[in-house]
Parts: sequence; C-alpha cells; structure tokens
Amino acid sequence: PVFKETYSPLTSSQLVAKEKSMMDEKRFAHCVRVSETARTLAKMNGYDEDKAALAGFVHDYAKQIPVEEYIKVIKEEDFDQDLLNWNRAIWHGIVGSWFIKRDLGITDPEILTAVYRHTTGDVEMTTLDQIVFVADYIEPGRTFAGVEEARKVSYADLASGVGYELAHTLAFLAEKRSKIYPRTLAAYNVWAAE
Ligand code: GDP
Ligand code: FE
Ligand code: FE
Ligand code: FE
Repeated sequence: PVFKETYSPLTSSQLVAKEKSMMDEKRFAHCVRVSETARTLAKMNGYDEDKAALAGFVHDYAKQIPVEEYIKVIKEEDFDQDLLNWNRAIWHGIVGSWFIKRDLGITDPEILTAVYRHTTGDVEMTTLDQIVFVADYIEPGRTFAGVEEARKVSYADLASGVGYELAHTLAFLAEKRSKIYPRTLAAYNVWAAE
C-alpha cells in the first residue's frame, strides 16, 4: 500500500516497512484490508479517504508488542494504572496510540483517537472513530456468524454499524463470561441500547 505523506515524518515506504516489522503476515494483511475498508467507508460518508486509509492501516500497529513492554509503558507513562488489570486486547488501542505516536511520529489527534477507541468504542465517536471501528469488524477477511448482516447495516448507515458491532461484541464477550471493559459497556449504552 501507499499512503499520503502528510501525517508522519516517515515516507510511505518507511511507514509500511515499520508496520510490517511489528507483526506477522496475517495481522499485516488484516491491517491492509482494514485500510481499504476504511477508505470505502470514508468515501461513502464524505470523510477524507487518505486519512481514513492511514488510520485503518495503523490501527493494530501495536497488537503484537510484548506484554512486558506494555506493562513498562503503562507504569512509566501517564496511563490509568487500572489498565494493568486488563490485557493486550484492551491495551493495543489505548496504549497502541502512544506507540504509534512514538514510533511512526503520527501526531494527528483524529488518527490517534481512532486507534485509541478502535477496540472498545466510546460514548463519543467522531466520524473517523466510527470508520475505523466498523472497518475492523467488517473487513473482507472476517468470517464470524453475522458478519454479512454487519456489512449490510454498516454500509447502509455507519452509526448503525457501530451499534450492531457493540451489541454483538458484548453478547459474544458475555457468552464467554469475559470481563467487559467499562468503556465498552458505556459505548454500548449510547450506540446500541434501545
Ligand atoms: P482485532 O485487534 O482486529 O482482533 O480487533 P479488536 O481490536 O476490535 O478487538 C480485540 C479483541 O478485544 C477482540 O477479541 C474483542 O472481542 C475484544 N474486546 C473488545 N471489547 C472488550 C471488552 O470490553 N472486554 C474484553 N475482555 N475484551 C474485549
Ligand atoms: Fe485491534
Ligand atoms: Fe474492533
Ligand atoms: Fe484489527
């Protein structure tokens, strides 16, 4: 992929190479598909396509950074120490945006916030937040039960896609008896609950 060189001091090829060095082939291919899906959603919703494509590409940049490094960063930087009670599923968005700023030099607050919110959603979500959140869920490599409906709903109306995703993620987590991150629940109440 090639990205507009507006949001990072790295060239597009440096940025792509850095991202590739951080993850396995499968995760990298997912990031490319999320980037393409984010571009499509941006076009449909009147948002900057190049910016959405970049945000989608970097959204899982930090997904495979070692747990020990996360723990160190959470302890040493200005993070809520309650994060230590969670795991990389929750960290890679919230703390991932910090790694993206450090390693890729991206400082654009919309891009960083979209990464920050991409796993849990949030009470308030900008258009870019919604695009990345939904693109991650409906990219063409996803195969879970309900993904076709998720795509239909999301392409018809982006905010409805956010609601669909939150409702189904919450049900999926509850079925497994997983802990629900409070922000996921707060987002569900705003975007999904009747
Ligand atoms: P991925 O990084 O592309 O795999 O997708 P996400 O970043 O959206 O989600 C990562 C994982 O976090 C998924 O398995 C989600 O089900 C899970 N997840 C999302 N919200 C919560 C939550 O509130 N609690 C827990 N325990 N897991 C969550
Ligand atoms: Fe993710
Ligand atoms: Fe997601
Ligand atoms: Fe993802």
